[in-house]
Amino acid sequence: MNIKEIDSQYVANTYARFPVQLQCGKGSLVWDEDGREYIDMGSGIAVNAFGVADGAWAAAVSAQLGRLQHCSNLYYSEPCALLAEQLCRRTGMKKVFFGNSGAEANECAIKCARKYAADKYGAGNRYKIVTLKNSFHGRTLTTLAATGQDEFHADFQPLTPGFLYAEANDCAALRALVEGDGAIAAIMFELVQGEGGVHRLSQEFVDCMVSLAAERDLLLICDEVQTGNGRTGSLYAWMQYGFVPDIMSTAKGLGGGLPIGACLMGEKVEHTLTAGSHGSTFGGNPAVCAGALSILERIDDGLLAEVRAKGEYIVSQLSSAPGVISVTGMGLMLGIATEKPTAEVVAECMANGVLVLTAHGKVRLLPALNIPMELVEKAVAVIRAACA
Ligand SMILES: *Cc1c(COP(=O)(O)O)cnc(C)c1O
Repeated sequence: MNIKEIDSQYVANTYARFPVQLQCGKGSLVWDEDGREYIDMGSGIAVNAFGVADGAWAAAVSAQLGRLQHCSNLYYSEPCALLAEQLCRRTGMKKVFFGNSGAEANECAIKCARKYAADKYGAGNRYKIVTLKNSFHGRTLTTLAATGQDEFHADFQPLTPGFLYAEANDCAALRALVEGDGAIAAIMFELVQGEGGVHRLSQEFVDCMVSLAAERDLLLICDEVQTGNGRTGSLYAWMQYGFVPDIMSTAKGLGGGLPIGACLMGEKVEHTLTAGSHGSTFGGNPAVCAGALSILERIDDGLLAEVRAKGEYIVSQLSSAPGVISVTGMGLMLGIATEKPTAEVVAECMANGVLVLTAHGKVRLLPALNIPMELVEKAVAVIRAACA
């Protein structure tokens, strides 16, 4: 059997894979098992922040692997402490909890919000969390409950109770929901809904959430798992909306390709989680954190300006192209609504050496933050032709 057949027989059927087996890569180019070259416009769903086999990241990880590859959270270790310090310095947040995925970062955020409300208002009095319709927050039973898409819920009932869903960008509806229920502890949202089809929240709606939160002592939980770590053209997307969340989760690009999740806690909740109230065996792993430090320190103003410029170039080239209905998103997180079915566009791009993603009926682009401009130009030409 070849690898595709072995995989189909033995790996759980949870993924509908594209017919490509990736063997290796360098930067934003990847090669399949037959040596065919592709421009990677997905970067492992916004994970390979600096592309494949990035030298500085690989060197940081390898050096740490030769020193101490894992250390239980019963002991201190340098990369974990330094990464938490950098994350707090760059965001103004106060504490970081490390896990291994976006879902785990969100689990921590939800636990932290519930405990804050329980400590302050009494256990069981305030525990509900409002999330947005069409959102995506993860695959664990609780983050699935937080995910505002019924299609993900049906087969797994009962989910964790205590989640309410509000329409994105509808302030009046959110106000009515929040004012009608005294048991709400927090509002949780993505500023650009990624899996839901690359939809931005409006500034007015964000302002609305911020004032409702202030009026009613609700925590604002910003899910920056996909939007974070430079993806939208600022270190975190909330930095472009003029507010500071109480809790922020991130993952995907932070590890540069290794599993990491981080829940950042602001002033209000910095003392909420106490020894024993949460934990993770692998969380804060030294090799993963050493790699993440190398990623974070290179997401500087110069790189962020490039992310914005490349994003603007892609939007300018595609938004009025034949067969393209609209282009939405921010920075290098873009969704393209096409006249052709997305599967056809994806297949045609693939046949012409460009890997693109989809999200809720759209073609989705999440290239490496440092993708060279010439590869952006080549990929855009292929995508334009595929959409026409
Ligand atoms: C990918 C994603 C998650 C889940 O992350 P995992 O690492 O797959 O658990 C959660 N929230 C958002 C916004 C995401 O894009």
